[in-house]
Amino acid sequence: MADTQKQTGAPESASNFIHNIIDKDLENQKYGDRVHTRFPPEPNGYLHIGHAKSICLNFSTAEKYNGKCNLRYDDTNPVKEDMEYVDAIEADVKWLGFSWDERLWASDYFDKMYELAVQLIKKGKAFVCDLNADQIREYRGTLKEPGKESPYRSRTVEENLRLFEEMKAGKYADGEKVLRAKIDMASPNINMRDPVIYRISHTEHHNTGSKYCIYPMYDYAHPIEDAIEGITHSICTLEFEDHRPLYDWVLQQLEWEAPPQQIEFARLNLTNTVMSKRHLKALVDEGKVDGWDDPRMPTIAGLRRRGYTPESIRDFCERIGVSKANSTVDVALLEHCLREDLKTKVESRNVVEDPIKIVITNYPEDQTEDLEIENNREVPELGNRSVPFSRELYVDGADFMEEPVKKYFRLFPGNEVRFKGAYFITCNEVIKNEDGTIRELRCTYDPQTKSGSGFEGRKVKGTIHWVDAKTAVKIRIRNYDYLMVENEAGELALNPDSLEESWGYAEPSIAKAAPGERFQFFRHGYYIADEKLTTEDEKVFNKIVGLKSSWKK
Ligand code: ATP
Ligand code: MG
Repeated sequence: MADTQKQTGAPESASNFIHNIIDKDLENQKYGDRVHTRFPPEPNGYLHIGHAKSICLNFSTAEKYNGKCNLRYDDTNPVKEDMEYVDAIEADVKWLGFSWDERLWASDYFDKMYELAVQLIKKGKAFVCDLNADQIREYRGTLKEPGKESPYRSRTVEENLRLFEEMKAGKYADGEKVLRAKIDMASPNINMRDPVIYRISHTEHHNTGSKYCIYPMYDYAHPIEDAIEGITHSICTLEFEDHRPLYDWVLQQLEWEAPPQQIEFARLNLTNTVMSKRHLKALVDEGKVDGWDDPRMPTIAGLRRRGYTPESIRDFCERIGVSKANSTVDVALLEHCLREDLKTKVESRNVVEDPIKIVITNYPEDQTEDLEIENNREVPELGNRSVPFSRELYVDGADFMEEPVKKYFRLFPGNEVRFKGAYFITCNEVIKNEDGTIRELRCTYDPQTKSGSGFEGRKVKGTIHWVDAKTAVKIRIRNYDYLMVENEAGELALNPDSLEESWGYAEPSIAKAAPGERFQFFRHGYYIADEKLTTEDEKVFNKIVGLKSSWKK
């Protein structure tokens, strides 16, 4: 265990209590040498970063112990599910770098689940109840008071068998009857007060069609799914802790040998992030975002389109670790992991926004020279690229001030700065349009200061980047702010200014950028050519993340 901690460099909380449990089980040969986990999404939406935590945990645990991990669709609720989601879920899991041992459907076990429900009835452990939903709630009692037994609780086994059969045959309307486990209406755990295990729903199911009009409830279905698949450790989030006695009860009644064990961990919450498929679906349906893969969405598809790498998400999941205590992680940590990953992977490009034209009056009119500029200062293996430099250039609007404030070391009239990878340049004159806006800056360069020449004659304080005007490529840039921000009441609300479009001039090599290609725009941040919007003729970049980290340990 200590070894794993060292390898990952993860904090104490990531020591992963789940692995401690597994280690003990292996020692006691509880499941022999087997470790078998599963990731069980309900195909009712796209996966989000919270699911990534569960995916990493389940698949990495299987990998660590040379075990198996199934991808199982929890498709026991026929109303909300959609095949579009199935394809998206698989793409996301693969993109994160995991592969499942088997892809399975909970609905494939409907026959078996029905058979086992009949078995429960025969044992006197389940009964058909005619109370409606409101009555069931009323009878259930509260945390302080015990519940009341249903008047239908004493039905005979024969009557229950007949009624359950009739429920299945479609004799009753939705909600008219349910099958309930017969456990204990006085249990301090409300989940044990004769929970409903089958309900009627006259709805077509994508897998079983109209074969069934009764569907098993999650708490009954899930342990059976796990048991059928030979799952050893069924990892789920903390809300299910109070359901564990029911999970165990079901498998005990069904006399399952070496039943799987449910282990709960704290779900991931992130600042500035809604993490529920239901809410995310509403944003999509109401057109508040541009689909499930909108680059502002916390979905895996959205993060991918935004420019996140699978490595950065896996690193994040490892760093936050697994614990039993709910907490909210600062989204800045996720961004930090992304920067750490991109830092050594991507090449730099010169891009200027809000451009100001520069004319170098002492540079020959028809000359262009190709300057060699390093792609990534920290990673020499990424080599150099050739960037054209000539008499007319653009610099960033933010890199010039006509009347400089204190400690401003960039371009202003009379000041000399280094043009990154090129020469020292002095601004001599500001030429304006009639309306007072700047038309161009007349500058001069000093040929002997050429980058790489070893010039040591004098030093300048500012270094700025530039783009050659003749060959500049105009690009569209999409800058993002958080989709959700805290309102005055301290609740997360939709940020009306989460997308801002701008444009810039880029050095000519940008014309070759393929959709999905990432760069550091020198001094601006990390960007990706948008998968959907980038074409041969027009390059559209998403700002992935800025260069500066706001994350504090
Ligand atoms: P949501 O409420 O967003 O719809 P869910 O839990 O209903 O999420 P499922 O498809 O049922 O979504 O979840 C699949 C698995 O992912 C479950 O094991 C669930 O516990 C896990 N999971 C979902 N959200 C999170 C989260 N925020 N952090 C960690 N694990 C999560
Ligand atoms: Mg769910």
